[in-house]
Amino acid sequence: MNNEIVSKVLDSLRTKISDFNYKNWFQNLTWQVSEPGKVQIMVPSRFVRDWLMDHYLELIKFEFFRLTETEHEIIFKINKKINKNLELFSDNQKPATESKAASKSDQATNVAGSEAPQTVPAVDSSPRSTPKLASKLIQNMGFNSKYQFSNYVVGNSNQLVYAACKAVATQPARSYNPLFIYGGVGLGKTHLLNSIGLSVLKQYPNWRIVYVTGEKFTNEVISAIRYGKAYEMRKKYRDNCDMLLIDDIQFIAGKERTMEEFFHTFNTLYESRKQIIMTSDQLPKNIPNLEERLKSRFGWGLMADIQTPDFETRMAILRKKAEDDRIVLPDDVCEFMATHVTNNVRDLEGSLIRVSAFASLAKVPITLDLAKEVLRNILADFKPKLTVENIQSRVAEFYNLKISDLKSKRRHKNLAVPRQIAMYLCKTHLSVSFPELGQKFGGKDHTTVMHAVRKITGCLESDVTIKTDVVDLEKTLGI
Ligand code: ADP
Ligand code: MG
Repeated sequence: MNNEIVSKVLDSLRTKISDFNYKNWFQNLTWQVSEPGKVQIMVPSRFVRDWLMDHYLELIKFEFFRLTETEHEIIFKINKKINKNLELFSDNQKPATESKAASKSDQATNVAGSEAPQTVPAVDSSPRSTPKLASKLIQNMGFNSKYQFSNYVVGNSNQLVYAACKAVATQPARSYNPLFIYGGVGLGKTHLLNSIGLSVLKQYPNWRIVYVTGEKFTNEVISAIRYGKAYEMRKKYRDNCDMLLIDDIQFIAGKERTMEEFFHTFNTLYESRKQIIMTSDQLPKNIPNLEERLKSRFGWGLMADIQTPDFETRMAILRKKAEDDRIVLPDDVCEFMATHVTNNVRDLEGSLIRVSAFASLAKVPITLDLAKEVLRNILADFKPKLTVENIQSRVAEFYNLKISDLKSKRRHKNLAVPRQIAMYLCKTHLSVSFPELGQKFGGKDHTTVMHAVRKITGCLESDVTIKTDVVDLEKTLGI
């Protein structure tokens, strides 16, 4: 199994580097997967070790990652005994035309060979092990290898967007182009974008995939203007790009030159049938100050939203994270967190980490009481902040109305009472003035709001239905 991976990696390396270099640098080295995720490569000298590290390490790590989906730590060990087996060091393998490196290595070998073998340990006791980081190549491309399809939990709230992402990752530019993913913070947009990029990279290792945030793109435009590097930027994003992934595109809104640059980038890529995937916190039409021509283009392919996960998905996410991090999470604790941390996945993850860190510091198991204690203070923060907009949307939802109904001037009882209740709740629980509230309810006069508050205050004494509704609404608002 281990050897299988190594030989696959070697096969793949063979296709990517010249025969000469393959023979010289790779043939006859001993590779061994010493434990899961760790590969030991025996090399004959420091020189070879350094050369491999400088020239091939990223490629080797990348190949392991591509073939196994996990990062591997590569450790070079020096074993001078393997010296003579290496073709690299035999005289007849030294073509004059090949790079200086070959002859340099030859010298290095001689030096190494001239050392007294008895005084040098066969295996270097201080191997220059590589840092356990994602392959630099992947990092340089901006990806986070933690975010993959395999650790993305699918539920009702995200199954459509997940299917769309999978389709695009499997057949780039042939299913939906552009793919526009939108949803609130911490719901997994960046995770999905990364997953697509890494999955495509695995299938098409030579593709030039450009992954960038809206913010970075904006900064690049600014510095391209300042330093006269527009040409380079165009090359990167238009000519040398097989697929563009852009995270938090809403960031470019209102920045004229950036929108302009992106417009042309989009057109060029789209026309040459290159896949474009964007994420945003909202639908294009709702992004303020985004040019109309961009809004319309963003909708040419598929727009898919990620919603807040439901209870079952929250449970599944917690279980998966606990399993991945080897945290023993009892069912009742999992249920407690999934019930109370409802806003987004990032908060859910945050509370799991907090509880588990506390338990491990205190050296106690995770229990319901512990979770309650640890999360007591922060659970208050997870409650949605009370604002006029928030109250309006809860009241509208409660009565099955639109927010615009609450702001309209129509006086039908079915609208007037909910509107007055919303005004009452705002006035009672927020510090907003009557005129301000009038403004927020469709530009009404402050006396209308005063009348509403007075009326509902009165009804609380006399009208059971209204009283019950107000109490229920206060409960759902967490008041
Ligand atoms: P966004 O970009 O939408 O703000 P992220 O992609 O950064 O959100 O997600 C926040 C965190 O939640 C990340 O650690 C991510 O791995 C995790 N996450 C979000 N959705 C899921 C999911 N469905 N399954 C597993 N982890 C998820
Ligand atoms: Mg994000």
